[in-house]
Amino acid sequence: MAVPVFSRRASVSSPVPESSLGRGRRDIESWGRYPHGAHRRVLRAWWSDQVPACLANAGPASILPGGLRRSYGDSCLNFGRDLLDCTPLDRFLFADFQRGILRCEAGVTLHEILRMVVPRGWFLPVLPGTAHVTLGGAIANDIHGKNHHRQGSIGRHLRQLMLSRSDAPELLCSPNSEIELFRATIGGLGLTGVILWAEMQLKPVSSPWLLARKSVFKSLDEFFYLTAQNDDSEEYTVAWLDGFARSDPQGVFFSASHAPAPVENHSGEASLQRHAFPVARGIPGQCLNPWTIRLFNAAYRNYQERSTRTKLIHYRSFFFPLDSLDNWNRIYGRGGLVQYQCLLPEDPGILRRLLAKISISGQVSFLMVLKRFGNLASPGILAFPRPGLTLALDFPMRGRRTLQLLDELDAIVLPCGGALYPAKDARMSRAAFQSSFPNWRRFRAAIDPKCSSSFWRRVTEW
Ligand SMILES: Cc1cc2nc3c(=O)[nH]c(=O)nc-3n(C[C@H](O)[C@H](O)[C@H](O)COP(=O)(O)OP(=O)(O)OC[C@H]3O[C@@H](n4cnc5c(N)ncnc54)[C@H](O)[C@@H]3O)c2cc1C
Repeated sequence: MAVPVFSRRASVSSPVPESSLGRGRRDIESWGRYPHGAHRRVLRAWWSDQVPACLANAGPASILPGGLRRSYGDSCLNFGRDLLDCTPLDRFLFADFQRGILRCEAGVTLHEILRMVVPRGWFLPVLPGTAHVTLGGAIANDIHGKNHHRQGSIGRHLRQLMLSRSDAPELLCSPNSEIELFRATIGGLGLTGVILWAEMQLKPVSSPWLLARKSVFKSLDEFFYLTAQNDDSEEYTVAWLDGFARSDPQGVFFSASHAPAPVENHSGEASLQRHAFPVARGIPGQCLNPWTIRLFNAAYRNYQERSTRTKLIHYRSFFFPLDSLDNWNRIYGRGGLVQYQCLLPEDPGILRRLLAKISISGQVSFLMVLKRFGNLASPGILAFPRPGLTLALDFPMRGRRTLQLLDELDAIVLPCGGALYPAKDARMSRAAFQSSFPNWRRFRAAIDPKCSSSFWRRVTEW
């Protein structure tokens, strides 16, 4: 069944003169609000046939396609050069709800896709921790979710995509055609050209509800035990760590699977929050300090210990709890935050060393999330997910002090074969990137000569 084409925003029907596309901006930020810099222009593509002209008119290494800038660091920024805002490419193009196949433009968000497909019995195979991410951004970072051990990253579920490059206005890429470009574009950080649309395979579900369980754990050994026990039987698993717990990290282990049968008129739906609370601008960064974080952690752990262990939960509450606070990144104040998401071997000793280093530094991560990746390989050449553990830490950005701590964490993570997630990174060194993404030279051959980003220049230029 073909779905009618629609756009959620006003759009124009003919190519827009460049002068009216341009908005020179200083205030373009990524989610972490660090680093800062000015862009020359922000161009906007309302229709996919405007994209080739934008690329053709761009200078060498001057433009970067962009989504909703939910990346934390500078992989979605292009200081001193141009951004091409692809969010107005927001049309659903084709859907086959018999087979669960959906094709839509790259600016459609995961939130919009879920709204369209869940009532029809389908679900996105991979979801990140926010629904406010575009399909193009999700592909360009080859996102992973709480079910990596079952489904791998999003690149595994793509059937085909249409890429616009400065040397080819439209190139159909799939596992069978333009294979190298297809593999480079998955996790390709927007550097291989502009994704115009993508087609993916959805997975069937019987309702929006999940059957979720949680267990409080008091040591890393318990975490490993829970992971080993649940990864075989549960679709989604993830753990929250309490960074203040002494000796051995404690936390809460969450697991869930889609409810096996339709759930009619579940009372919890009424309590689902429909609108996000806005976080005000100008919150002082000092609001998040070791005392407030300790208080929050204690209250959260207490709540988790007391509340129901097994329950039906709506997918929005399970996957996107932070989406109920609009612009929650403002809680970190004007200095912003840096997220450190690393990949580690499954070795409790390394994890303990990392946590001990943070504890000694006196700096505290507001959020600590731990998950075991499975061994389903991504087709992406620059893929981040690999077998092992992934730990995500959010630190308030306090300048040199914070950067020094992260360098010290690198010194633990990288020698043992670890890696850092480019989507979250704002500071890794060239050496760190090049040693942990050994395919980067092969990837470089697929870059569109008109595309570049602040991240890419930072990790590859001498
Ligand atoms: C609260 C929160 C939770 C998150 N949880 C997870 C998680 O669990 N797992 C995970 O993997 N990630 C997670 N992320 C990161 C997020 O999923 C990625 O950074 C995602 O790529 C952001 O998409 P975006 O639309 O905001 O794209 P942007 O951040 O704007 O851009 C991301 C990349 O995509 C490229 N791009 C965008 N559009 C196009 C296009 N049309 N063609 C070509 N390239 C394009 C950009 O050049 C850039 O390199 C999380 C982020 C937040 C804020």
